[in-house]
Amino acid sequence: MSKQDYSRQDGKHHLHPFSDNAALAREGVRVMVKAKGIYVYDDEGNEILDGMAGLWCVNIGYGRKELAKVAKKQMKELPFYNTFFKTTHPAVVELSATITDIAPSGFNHVFYTGSGSESVDTMMRMVRHYWASVGKPQKKVIIGRWNGYHGSTIGGASLGGMKGMHSQGDLPIPNVVHIEQPWYYGLAKDGESPEEFGLRAANWLEEKIEEIGADKIAAFVGEPIQGAGGVIIPPKTYWPRIEEICRKHDILLVADEVICGFGRTGNWFGHETMGFKPDIFTTAKGLSSGYLPIGAVLVNDKVAEGLKAGGEFNHGFTYSGHPVAAAVAKKNLEILQDEGIVDQVKNETGPYMKKRWEETFSQFKYVDDIRSEGLICGFTLVKDKARRELFPNTGETGLMCRDIFFKNNLIMRACGDHMVAAPPLVMTKKEIDKMLAVAEQCMREFEQMMDKKLAKEEKAGKKEEKSDQ
Ligand SMILES: *Cc1c(COP(=O)(O)O)cnc(C)c1O
Repeated sequence: MSKQDYSRQDGKHHLHPFSDNAALAREGVRVMVKAKGIYVYDDEGNEILDGMAGLWCVNIGYGRKELAKVAKKQMKELPFYNTFFKTTHPAVVELSATITDIAPSGFNHVFYTGSGSESVDTMMRMVRHYWASVGKPQKKVIIGRWNGYHGSTIGGASLGGMKGMHSQGDLPIPNVVHIEQPWYYGLAKDGESPEEFGLRAANWLEEKIEEIGADKIAAFVGEPIQGAGGVIIPPKTYWPRIEEICRKHDILLVADEVICGFGRTGNWFGHETMGFKPDIFTTAKGLSSGYLPIGAVLVNDKVAEGLKAGGEFNHGFTYSGHPVAAAVAKKNLEILQDEGIVDQVKNETGPYMKKRWEETFSQFKYVDDIRSEGLICGFTLVKDKARRELFPNTGETGLMCRDIFFKNNLIMRACGDHMVAAPPLVMTKKEIDKMLAVAEQCMREFEQMMDKKLAKEEKAGKKEEKSDQ
């Protein structure tokens, strides 16, 4: 197949995730052929800086030969065996020791999955099974948040708060409810400080618990920092208050660490950065730096004991603890440890990114709420900074901006009208400068385009006014 053929052939047969496939087949796709470090390369030879680490996952960067090596070795030795029927294998035993060693104290048990969505679905079944095991089978309701993202399976999509996902196919499933997200910029009252807002937002959970009854609620689940919702970083008061509420009402607290886990926020886990202790946390993405699909659900000793008391948990995946994925994940974690990458994000590149990110974007009039933590960053495109006025038709402006970045060979993502970045954690200060130099150019281009668009709209609006008179 010639290079151009890939794009055309793709449109003929391949249904893409989260895409309008008819439009995509007409317009064509970009064909990625290789990757190295923080760059991916397309079939036209363009070098594209990957500011999203794939999908928030390629944390140690592309092209790490060590991972290829352990995968090859494991494939030759034991490419597959299951862990269902009184069997195990060295790769999964070793990974479990490594993960629980990295996890905060009190987390000594892990259940494996093949993805973030499977981790979330596992957790949803697990919290209900836990309560049934300890004699409270009526505790079934799981509380998530609007605009949260927890994957695309029926459970994960239900628990997530993406209305566009709920609108397709009768979601959410029963006994899954949502509270509002802790988005200070969009939801704070006039004069309310971030700290005050954080407490008020956390109290929405208590209101929901009182409405439903704590005796019916199994768990509250949230991403420490909302990723796909647009990198929403809650005020520091939010999570400790959430934890307090969960303890008071005897509800399990679950952190969805699929993005935040394994170093993204400058600590091993996002809940450490945000200052709370969950009972369970779900992971995937950064666990293997995306080199192979694998996820893991970690449970604290209390939950592990409860589950063990409940006899058989009728749940598992063919690929739970897949040997090749497990071997690769273990090597990935060792690289993060040996190269001190998490500390580097915490003490060097994270703070540097914060400073440079703010410097770069604060000069633009359509940008506000510039934020970052470790190497997860965002800002919001707004029509009028002084009045905190967002653009109408949420998402349209974000896509326009994203396309300018993509055309200039820098991958950032638009989540609604939030522009976000989550580059590989191995990114150096020099590479941060390089990324932001390109981003600055892109934003200039965006600003000019938006100036023209708004001027045109204003002119059209005036004409309409005249003809109305
Ligand atoms: C990506 C993501 C998921 C889903 O993971 P998949 O591997 O795509 O199934 C779940 N939760 C969060 C927080 C995520 O970012």
